[in-house]
Amino acid sequence: MKQPGTISMFAASILALSAGMANSQATFDTGNIPQPHLAAARAIAAGENSWRQLGLATCYPDDADAAQLSTEQPPATKIFDNLYYVGNNNVSPYALDTSAGIILFDAMDNAKEVDEFIIPGLRKVGLDPARLKVLIISHGHGDHFGGARYLKGKYGVKVYMSGPDWDMVEKQAKAQKPVTQRPIPANEQRLAPARDMVVKDGDTITLGDETIKLFITPGHTPGALSMLVPVKDHGQKRLLAYFGGAGNQNLTLDLHAQFDRSWGRLVQLAADAKVDGYFSNHPNYDGAIFKIEMLRSHPHNPNPYLIGTADTVRFIKEVKECNLNNIDIQRKLPDWTIRAVRDHQPAPKG
Ligand SMILES: [Zn+2]
Repeated sequence: MKQPGTISMFAASILALSAGMANSQATFDTGNIPQPHLAAARAIAAGENSWRQLGLATCYPDDADAAQLSTEQPPATKIFDNLYYVGNNNVSPYALDTSAGIILFDAMDNAKEVDEFIIPGLRKVGLDPARLKVLIISHGHGDHFGGARYLKGKYGVKVYMSGPDWDMVEKQAKAQKPVTQRPIPANEQRLAPARDMVVKDGDTITLGDETIKLFITPGHTPGALSMLVPVKDHGQKRLLAYFGGAGNQNLTLDLHAQFDRSWGRLVQLAADAKVDGYFSNHPNYDGAIFKIEMLRSHPHNPNPYLIGTADTVRFIKEVKECNLNNIDIQRKLPDWTIRAVRDHQPAPKG
């Protein structure tokens, strides 16, 4: 008999390599699951006036994240006369400058990120952080509220979030066990802000010459916020929709159902308001990274955020269909499969 030698060692290393690759490229095996809503989302996306199809990307979050995100950090950038990007390549805080101070959308993960991106970003685009007055938190996940307590302490901002998400944040904060394994440095902790301003559906927030209209659109979280935000493009008034909860993976079936109703409502809201475009709280939902690149390389071209009402509505409808598609998948696949694949962990045995 042949002795096991270098060949089988080689074969073993190939096996190990391919196992590793399969792991890093893991995706659900959805081959046998009918996906009519994926087909519907694709059909809507095919009608878009651009190749980006960012709503459709929520049907393929793993692939889409890799395709849409950048390994480089985007520079803080003036997007409109009064709207600025001050985030990184993962989370998108925007700053709206008004005659009476700055409205900030989202606080990022912790004090460290505030000090690394938001504050220097504001200075870089010529805004004084001391003028921060209002902080609107799109929804109650740590990557959006984590820096809020720091911003409140430093600048005295009023922190706005929906009632259901204040509840969620408080519940989580209470349930949190102290970190014993490896202490997290103070400035890297996601600290729950104390309950401050509670947004109700249909509320407006006015600061100086700008008024934002807010809607509670549950799904991604119980109280994710969507908004209508006025901006100025070379002096011209434009209206943008803002989506604070586009992620539709790994929700409870109840939240998936709420998501469907919310995004159905958003179709109507965006169409009725005749929005000129939209922005969102992660760059993979609004294409911030390449739109910033376009703004910087072609400053005299039409603003890439102004995609028009029809394409904004298409985006919403694509996200809505992808959510329905994810419900179909979740109903067919056991929950641990979805979690194991998404977290890139080995599936449990047995
Ligand atoms: Zn979230």
